[in-house]
Amino acid sequence: MKKKWSIALILLVAVLSMAGCGGMKSAAPEGAQKIKVVATMYPVYEFVKQVGGDKVDVVMLIPPGAEPHDWEPTAKDIIQIKDAKIFAYHGIGFEPVEKLLKKDVLGNAIPLEITKDVTKLPASHEDEEEEHGHSHGEDHKYDPHTWLDPVSVQQEVNTIAQALASVDEKNAEVYKKNAETYNKKLADLDEKYKKTLSGMTNKEIVTSHKAFAYLANRYGFEQLGIMGISPDAEPTPDKMAKITEFCREHKVKYIFFETLTSPKLAQTIAKETGAQLLVLNPIESLTEQETKEGKDYIAIMNENLVNLEKALK
Ligand SMILES: [Zn+2]
Repeated sequence: MKKKWSIALILLVAVLSMAGCGGMKSAAPEGAQKIKVVATMYPVYEFVKQVGGDKVDVVMLIPPGAEPHDWEPTAKDIIQIKDAKIFAYHGIGFEPVEKLLKKDVLGNAIPLEITKDVTKLPASHEDEEEEHGHSHGEDHKYDPHTWLDPVSVQQEVNTIAQALASVDEKNAEVYKKNAETYNKKLADLDEKYKKTLSGMTNKEIVTSHKAFAYLANRYGFEQLGIMGISPDAEPTPDKMAKITEFCREHKVKYIFFETLTSPKLAQTIAKETGAQLLVLNPIESLTEQETKEGKDYIAIMNENLVNLEKALK
C-alpha cells in the first residue's frame, strides 16, 4: 500500500515538473486551450463568437444553407455536444431540447439557453392552430424569433457573457468587454432602424413565414404571413385567397420572400396582385453564398432595413 502511494507521488511530481518547464504546453496545440462551445443555429453561433472572441472555439451544428426549423441532431452532433464546455441553444421551442438536455447527451457540457432572460412575445392563436402536430417545438405559447430584434439580442449577449465567465473566470473581463463592444453595435443598429422606420405610411408587410414579430413589434409595424410561424406550415387555399385580397385592397407593392425556402407562394401572390418581390432574410441560417461573402448578422440586418424601408414607404 505504501509503495503504491509513493509511485503515485513520483508520477505526480513528474507531471508537475513537466508542466513547469513548459513540456505540457508544447505537447498541446494552441487551440486546445480555448473554451469549446457548441451552438445549434446561426444566430446563437454568431453571438457566442462575438462574445467569446479568440478565447473560444465555437462549433455550429446546423450547417449553412439548412433550414433550421425542423432540425434533428445527428449522432455526430451529440459527440460534439459531449465534448464541449457549453452547449448553447436558442430555446423557446426552436430546438428539440427534450432530446438534448439529458445527461447522456450533455456529458459535462453546461446547457445555456441564450433567450432565458428575454421578454417573449406570444405566438398568435392562428399560429398555434397551424403548428398543431408540427415538430417546431413543444412550446407553442411563444414566438421563437427573438434574434430579429437587436434590443433582445443585447440581453442574449449579456447572458452569453455571464455563462462564459462562469466556466472561464480568468477571462471574465474579456467576455464583458467583448459583450459591451458588440452591444454598442447592436444599439447603433437599433438607432438606425428607429430613425429609418419612424413615420412610415404603411404599417403592414407581407412575408413568407412569420419570422418577424419581434422586429415588427419593436419598430411599430405588422406582419402578414403567407405561411405560419414555421416555413413549412402551408397555407390553405382560403388563406391564400385572403392574403391576395388583402394585398389588392391595401395596394401592397412588395411581397417578401426568403433565401432558404421556396419563393413559390410569394411569387403566386405577387403575380396575381401585381406586387414585386423583395428579400427579407429571417437570418435563421446563412446560405453558403452569404458565408463565402463574409456576411454576418449585422450586415444582413442592414440589408433587411433597406428592403423594409421600400415596402413601408
Ligand atoms: Zn422561423
